[in-house]
Amino acid sequence: MRKTIVLALAAVLAEPMAKDVPKVPLSDLVRRSSVVVVGKVDRVETVAGVRVAQVTSQDVVKGESVPATFAFVAEGTWACDVSTATEGETALLFLQDPVPSTGTSKLAGLWPALGTRKGFIISLSGRGRMPVHEGSRDRHVHSLEYFDEVATWPDTCKECRGREKPLADLLGQLRSIVDEQRPPR
Ligand SMILES: [Zn+2]
Repeated sequence: MRKTIVLALAAVLAEPMAKDVPKVPLSDLVRRSSVVVVGKVDRVETVAGVRVAQVTSQDVVKGESVPATFAFVAEGTWACDVSTATEGETALLFLQDPVPSTGTSKLAGLWPALGTRKGFIISLSGRGRMPVHEGSRDRHVHSLEYFDEVATWPDTCKECRGREKPLADLLGQLRSIVDEQRPPR
């Protein structure tokens, strides 16, 4: 019994920040995102001084009009922005259309420089990027600590350490959310 308590305490102490991080329901993340898509990052390049990921879409969950290839900003543009991308990765991406009024001076030159390429920013300042891992038992996504609903799977991946969920399960859940949020026609 005592050993159990010590182990439980150790687990809590190993995550000192967890309880301070505001949690976001997946439904909020979907609502804030104009596009939800599984995509492959073909390359990461610099356009008009901004790090940009070039993506090929593989599975569209929301935003049927998203082109087969598109771009997103892959660097932080303010202090708490964790936007990034890794060349060659596949990721579940929650993306927003850039809003001109929130465009920092750094991004101002990017949108015209992309030309005909459609460009997005990652929702929640980068939190809307969940890399897909090919685990030994499943194909799963790795999420940050903001999304409790993506931390339900037993700890099967050393990198994810429980912050993971099988991709197929999560896509099913997201499609239900998208259906619920679709305005009646
Ligand atoms: Zn993993």
